[in-house]
Amino acid sequence: MKLDPDLRLKILEKVGIYSNRFSIQEPRVLLSTKEVLEMPKEMTEGRRTSAYKYFGVSYLLNNLIFINVRKIPDEKTLENTIVHELIHMRFPYLSHGKRFNKLVRQGLRGKIFPPYRKRKKF
Ligand SMILES: [Zn+2]
Repeated sequence: MKLDPDLRLKILEKVGIYSNRFSIQEPRVLLSTKEVLEMPKEMTEGRRTSAYKYFGVSYLLNNLIFINVRKIPDEKTLENTIVHELIHMRFPYLSHGKRFNKLVRQGLRGKIFPPYRKRKKF
């Protein structure tokens, strides 16, 4: 998709809406590989020069996500990618799989998730 100011605004609005529903702090959003490369190296470590390969990347430790607008073919994939990355932020311990995909589907349907609470260590 082509990143223009309208689409940029629309994506940021969606990120805001889903962040509220998922009870997470709204992440900073990068929308092009250029923006990824402009970030301090330590913030995008591990997925920096490889970021272009993915529809999206979440940098959990820095509350930062990358939505690869240029690579994303359509609205549906865009919405999926936004929700996918924000589910990573809300469920940081969870890796990809059935449970993860289920949460993404629930998120897309408008489900509200209570805040993430770290389990106390004894
Ligand atoms: Zn993922």
